[in-house]
This record gives sequence, structure tokens and C-alpha cells, in this order.
Amino acid sequence: MSEAVLDWWEYHEGRRCALAAWHHHRQRAGGERPSFDGDEARDRLRGLAQQQWPGGQDTWTTGPTEADLDERTRRLIASGATAIFRATITAGGTSLVVDVLERTAQGSWCAVLLSTRYGLDRFLVEQAALTLHVLQAASIPVAGVHLVHVDADYRKGKGPIEPEAFLVRRSLTIRAARAKARVVSAMAVLTDIAAEAVPPDVPRGTHCRACTFTDRCVETLPADWTGRYPTEAGTSADVWLARGYERMGDVPADEPMGAPRRRARLASRTGRIVVDPALPQVLEACRPPVWYLDFECVWSLLPVFEGTAPAQHVPFLWSLHHVDEEGRLTHLDEIVAPGPDPRRRMAESLVEAVGAYHEPIVVYGDYEAERIGELAALFPDLAPALERIRGRIVDLLAVIRDHVYDLQFRGNFSLKAVGPVLAPGLTYRELAIRDGLTAARAYARLLYLPEVTPDDVETTLADLRAYCERDTLALVDVHRTLMNLAQGATMTAEGEERYPEVRV
Ligand code: SF4
Repeated sequence: MSEAVLDWWEYHEGRRCALAAWHHHRQRAGGERPSFDGDEARDRLRGLAQQQWPGGQDTWTTGPTEADLDERTRRLIASGATAIFRATITAGGTSLVVDVLERTAQGSWCAVLLSTRYGLDRFLVEQAALTLHVLQAASIPVAGVHLVHVDADYRKGKGPIEPEAFLVRRSLTIRAARAKARVVSAMAVLTDIAAEAVPPDVPRGTHCRACTFTDRCVETLPADWTGRYPTEAGTSADVWLARGYERMGDVPADEPMGAPRRRARLASRTGRIVVDPALPQVLEACRPPVWYLDFECVWSLLPVFEGTAPAQHVPFLWSLHHVDEEGRLTHLDEIVAPGPDPRRRMAESLVEAVGAYHEPIVVYGDYEAERIGELAALFPDLAPALERIRGRIVDLLAVIRDHVYDLQFRGNFSLKAVGPVLAPGLTYRELAIRDGLTAARAYARLLYLPEVTPDDVETTLADLRAYCERDTLALVDVHRTLMNLAQGATMTAEGEERYPEVRV
């Protein structure tokens, strides 16, 4: 690759890690880059925003099919189009897709960036700066660079969403002009790196956390690799890695660190699961008889139900398992078929199911408590019952994070990470839906797509119920393992902690 022309995404990723830019560039050159087209939030936002430019023309759907997108953009500029959607311009060593090029009354152009975020951040300013650079390099007269983003305070009314109320437009022209030299210079460095046949040698560290290439760079590293603890209290994991402490067990005991890392360090040194002696006492709060609760929610950047905010999580399904004093397991659930706002039925059915009891309700994380709090705020007549339910919640994630560590958690306390360790017999493998995001998308598909058949609806609702049931069953199994572990945790008369010899 003698000469590289990077796009915005390669620049964006490259600001975090040069190796990520190198990989992304090669993926695009090889036609392997996963497309962002089809991203539900972006597509729907684009459709709504484009209503503000009636008569605008989309380079993806207009012009001769043999012309590439740059050529189509140039033809639309020359044709007198008043607005061009997804204008593709390659100039100044960069290739960019501008969401909207808007012709001004004076015949110059305003570039409009559409953002699925709620406000301004460093990357949007850099994107605006790069847009300014590319337009000027292409000799397109630029009047300004504007940002259109979602108004976080918007609440859906009775009718369809009105773009003027939902979207906020602001000028980034001055910020873009100020940032341009810095951004162009950073882009030049990344372009040189991307042109090399050999990948850059970069250190692995906390910046790897949100990368799409972790399977290449990080997942093969040991389970106790120090970089797996990026957000914990104490010294940065990057500092430890720079000092050569590659594994948590290498980190000296007198280094500042919080309790979760201290347990991870001990697990690394002993190779055994670490259980805090306070675990039995903590678990007293959720001895059987006990309930296990999980919600599934749908959310959309463009809100669907009256009164909801952009991307607000709306529950449509709950699953409850119950374990009685004898250890007998029962299950119940409630799902609202796609159509009207499901929240009233969700709230009523939850109160009907568990409102009359005083037994603890085990959840994982604070998601369920937050949703119940929102339902209580929405339905004052149900608020006392819902608040009582919320008051019975015990968060198993906090229990594990604060009392247990196994190396195979790999620094991750999500149920999908600790479940296979603490409940190894439980699997999602045979299920059609295996994670919450897929569940939300499956339900959203039923809401949005007109071609959905009754059979489709029935199958999807059954798949959703099976997934949610498995999540609460995982909670039951994880809780059971914790109770077993708690029986092995002891403390000597001298106050020395003793951990169980067992590995789960
Ligand atoms: S995993 Fe880390 S080192 Fe590898 S490309 Fe991503 S950020 Fe860079």
C-alpha cells in the first residue's frame, strides 16, 4: 500500500490507537469493513433529518450507476442541487461522507454533520475540522460546518416526531477552523502509518477496552493480564504495564488499589477463586424464599411511545423465578405484544406477581431498580407498591464485585462473564436470542416493520421469553454457587482471611 487515503472512521479509531487505524484501513481496502449502513438509529435519524431539505438528492440513489460516489457528488454539485445527502468527497489525503451539503443563497456550501449523540464532544469538533479541510482541498466554497444532533430534553408527543422539535442545529465553523491544523497534522501521521506494510508496534493497555480488534490483540493474553482492570480505583493499569507488571500477580502488594483489584491480584498469585469472609453475612439478605427478576426493554433513538425520551428504555417483558424454603423452583413471566405502550401492563403485572410478598428479589446490576423507579414515577397509583418492590431488591452484581473473584472473570463482572464461571452448566447456546441487545432489536423489529406476520410475532415473543427466562435461571444458579462458596469462607482468630480450597 504505497499511498493511503484514510476516512473519518480510520481517523477516529486512530486517535485512540494507530494499530486500530492500520487494521481498519486494511479492512476497507479489502472490502471487509462492516458497513455502518443499516444501523437502525442512524438510518432513522437520517430519514427524519432529511425532511428538513425537501428536494435534497441522495448520492446513493441518484445519478448514473456507473459513476462512483465522488463522481455522483460532483455531478450533483454541478447540476444546481440545493441539498446533497451523503456527499462523498476525496481530497487533501482524506475521504469523507458529509451527511448533508446545503447550498446557501450565495452559492457556497454549508456542510451539516448528523450525530446520534446528544451534544458536542471532541470527536465531533475534529470531524467538523476534517470536513472543513476536505471541502477546501476540493475547492468547494464553504460557508460553514454545522452539527445537527438529538435534543436530549425531547419528549414524544401524540403525533409523529417533528424534526424541528427533535433536532438541534448549531454552528461548529469557528471551532472547526481552530482545530483544523492540529487535526490535519494528526491525520498525516496516521496516513503514513496506514501506508506501511507492517503493522505499528503499539503497547496493549486500557485503550484496548472498547476496540473491535481485541480478539487479535488482547483476548489471547492471560486471564490475569493487568490491562483487564482499566476502571478500578488506584494506579492506572497503563502505569503498571509500563513498569513491566504484565500480570496482576506481578503488581507489588503496596501499590494503591481498590478491593476488587486486590482480590484479582490474590487470585493471580494463588490460582484460586477468592472469596471475601463477609460473603455469608451479605447473602443473609437474600436467603430463600427468594425471587429472581429480569427485565427486557426496547429503546430507540427516535422514541416510539408518547412521553418517552430519545433512547429511553421501555420494558416489555419480565421473567421471575422463585425458590422456596425447600429449594423448589417455579417460573412466571409477562410479555406485552408489540403495539401500545407496554409500561402500564408491565407495572400492573409485576405488582400482581410479587407485590403481596416480602421476600427479597435478586437482580443483576441496577437496571431493574431503575426501570421500576421510572414506572413508579409514571403511575402514581402504583407507586407505593412499586417502591416496596424496589426496596426488596438485592443486587447480586454488587455482591460478586465486592466479595468474589475468579481469574476466569477476566476483569469483567457482567452476568455473561461470571455466569459461565459460577454457573458452568447453564448455556444460552441453543437459544435463538442470546443477549439483551438482540432481544431489544427483535422486539423493535416487531414494532417498526410493517411486513411482520402473526407467525413472526408469535415466534419472536416465544424466543424473547425463553431468553429472559434463561437470564433469571442464570441468577438462580449463580446465587446457589455463591451460597456454597460462602460456607467455605472463614477467618482465623488472628483476623487472617481464609479462602475456600474449592474451584468452581
Ligand atoms: S486491541 Fe488495543 S492494541 Fe489492538 S488495535 Fe485495538 S486498541 Fe490497538
